Amino acid sequence: MPSTKAVDLAAHPLTAWQGPLSLPDFTRIGDDDFSPVFDAALKAHEAEIEAIAGNKDAPTVENTLQALELGGEALDRVSSIFWCRAGAYTNETIQALERDISPKMSRHFSAISMNERLFARIDDLYQRRESLKLDAETLRVLEKTWKGFVRSGAKLDADGKKRLAKISEDLSSLGTTFGQNVLADERDWALFLDEADLAGLPDFLKSSMAEAAEMRGQKGRYAVTLSRSIYEPFSTFSERRDLREIAFRAFTMRGQNGGATDNSSVVRDMLKLRAEKAKLLGYGSFAALKLDDTMAKTPKAVHALLDPVWEKALEKAAADQTELQRLATEAGSNEKFAAWDWRFYQEKLRAEKFAFDEAELKPYLQLDRIIEACFDVATKLFGITFEEKQGIAIWHPDARVFVVKNADGSERGLFLADYFARPSKRSGAWMSALKSGYKLGHGSKPVIYNVMNFAKPPAGEPALLSVDEAKTLFHEFGHALHGMLTDVTWPSVSGTSVSRDFVELPSQLYEHWLTVPAVLEKHALHVKTGKPMPKALLDKMLAARTFGAGFATVEFTASALIDMAYHARPDAPEAPLRFEAETLEKLDMPDTIAMRHRTPHFGHVFSGDGYSAGYYSYMWSEVLDADAFAAFEETGDPFNPALAERLRKNIYAAGGSKDPEELYTAFRGKMPSPDAMMVKRGLV
Ligand SMILES: [Zn+2]
Repeated sequence: MPSTKAVDLAAHPLTAWQGPLSLPDFTRIGDDDFSPVFDAALKAHEAEIEAIAGNKDAPTVENTLQALELGGEALDRVSSIFWCRAGAYTNETIQALERDISPKMSRHFSAISMNERLFARIDDLYQRRESLKLDAETLRVLEKTWKGFVRSGAKLDADGKKRLAKISEDLSSLGTTFGQNVLADERDWALFLDEADLAGLPDFLKSSMAEAAEMRGQKGRYAVTLSRSIYEPFSTFSERRDLREIAFRAFTMRGQNGGATDNSSVVRDMLKLRAEKAKLLGYGSFAALKLDDTMAKTPKAVHALLDPVWEKALEKAAADQTELQRLATEAGSNEKFAAWDWRFYQEKLRAEKFAFDEAELKPYLQLDRIIEACFDVATKLFGITFEEKQGIAIWHPDARVFVVKNADGSERGLFLADYFARPSKRSGAWMSALKSGYKLGHGSKPVIYNVMNFAKPPAGEPALLSVDEAKTLFHEFGHALHGMLTDVTWPSVSGTSVSRDFVELPSQLYEHWLTVPAVLEKHALHVKTGKPMPKALLDKMLAARTFGAGFATVEFTASALIDMAYHARPDAPEAPLRFEAETLEKLDMPDTIAMRHRTPHFGHVFSGDGYSAGYYSYMWSEVLDADAFAAFEETGDPFNPALAERLRKNIYAAGGSKDPEELYTAFRGKMPSPDAMMVKRGLV
């Protein structure tokens, strides 16, 4: 039913932010407000777009590019609050709205990118860009905007546009089918075991297997399922070689079992459509299209990273296998060492070499002290400080508000943080913005937030973190700094608006400061005794981290190489699974290690478009963060002021205002090499 009350966007608490510290007044926002405000904000944005597209004056940067960037403010505001609520504090009303709003938003934005009159104005500016005498950032924003339109098909004729729309639609439904097929295979397969079959399994695994069996109607028994959280520990701990083999075969054949849930033809069709899409848009391959606006830029650059890593990983894995085979023989096995033996003997070797209990570290990692450590490192590196404001109601009573200040005491922006798990919050940890920072028009100060899922302690007790949780806190805070330190003019290149293979640099790099001795000595204090964490304990933990790197790097890199092999060709292979097998053979893939994700269940690449021709980016980011931290290590000072200033200026403050390669080189003096990453992984 259409809303009968007109929404006044200039006064509504969702769009006119009149709460304390210029935040939205969350106490005046009801769940039922979102829908009508969204409708009004969408309409307002449509009108703004129409005004730009239909402007009778010749296009200028101000009346076209700037108007486009500053338009849709009400929509941005209601969206940012809504998506914050949807992730951090949802309920049935919000969830129902989500299903309603997502397609509305995607229709709205695709209409904008298909608006011919609007593109004609952008194109006019773009063609004249040399004579407009633009500063470097404005020129880059103009080029990115133009490219964005072109990649959405703006330059195609009517038939081309129609075909592109059909390809996108088909790809999106094939992607959904792909994901659902994998899910069905995972759901339908289970290996039911009894008490006598559980030799070697730790308690946590037994209880999740018991729960999995009960969910499948076999109460009192134990189920091995194909969820990674059961499959991996099962193949790590089970003494039963026969069962490990059964589980291995089922796990690696997900999506390739014939019948209705087989993904072979889905993959073939998707690769064909992707190749066609690339050709339609004028690219030599789908990888060329996807990499065009990344730091890597070309498949060749991706190979320059992956190939040397692959060589080293193969060597390391071969050496590790010799040691594991020795263990297997000593344990009395006379079978040929196989893929289902690797995790099992690797765990035996780990226990022998690095007997070590993570739980010993926990009392040293108090949440409030680790938050302080995050702030402290940011102050030392970048000069900013944090001041908590009590009593300001935001989306949930657990969420906290901090004012971020520059070295001279002026206000830089706000940092909001919501640390504890609750049923109304989705799992995981993330950073986002209620408002991004930029200088265009009246300018905007960033309001950035972090959401975590740490267990809430009983009242009066301090929350304690595992090492991984403390790392997550630093990781997400690194993303938050990318948003808070931003110093750009144009909104579309603010903060984390950078390419997929660059966006994890500020976050992964920040993790390194958690384990800097001076930081731990000051902040990792025992909850009872107040004493700092013993160095020996920390060293043991760090040494254990590189264990098993040969296996992990081979299984990851094999998947990344296959992803690239599919998408860097101009055409699509007729039989993708045969292509997978042939490519692996050429790569000398050991038959004792499986790809981390084989093609028929490689969700990153086929269940949607997210990481297609992009699985490499996880490793690319790791290269960047290891190389960037090595720059500090080389000076002998993890807080080297001159380097920290270059880091702030070129990485944390620069957003997407320049090409990432240019930014990185300005910070480091050269492009990164994979050497530091290989050392960090323990490959050399
Ligand atoms: Zn991240």
